[in-house]
Amino acid sequence: MNIRIGNGYDIHRLVKDRPLILGGIHIAYEKGLLGHSDADVLTHTIMDAMLGALALGDIGHYFPPTDPKWTGADSIKLLQAVNELIKAKGWQISNLDSVVIAEAPKLKPHIKSMCDRLAQALELETSQVSVKATTNEGLDSMGQGESIAAHAVVLLTRIKE
Ligand code: MG
Repeated sequence: MNIRIGNGYDIHRLVKDRPLILGGIHIAYEKGLLGHSDADVLTHTIMDAMLGALALGDIGHYFPPTDPKWTGADSIKLLQAVNELIKAKGWQISNLDSVVIAEAPKLKPHIKSMCDRLAQALELETSQVSVKATTNEGLDSMGQGESIAAHAVVLLTRIKE
């Protein structure tokens, strides 16, 4: 088989006194995501989709939150490590599509920067990377501004046996 698909999901709590980093982009906001690493929920989601496509487990296996080595880690570096793993197994990303669920801040002005950053980190064209944003209509923790979640689908194509 020469194509594989993977699905990813992640959610982080939105709290005071943390930077908000999404898709490797620092977004000015009064709150940020809580987590062991930089808590970049979008990048984590994409990594899980990439790993899932090859049935390689999840990011918790490779970068356990119990390991102090990953405290405050730049998730883009972790993403690049996952991309190297994928390539070493003989695969590359064909395209990825994602959605971030956040009531606030408005993400539209940052979407292009996120796509560019993720594409650069993954050695892709920006046209291969889709980031969308939606609100949760005031519902649940995302809608109440207590969390931000993300979903992603990644398609891989084989580059070598
Ligand atoms: Mg996470």
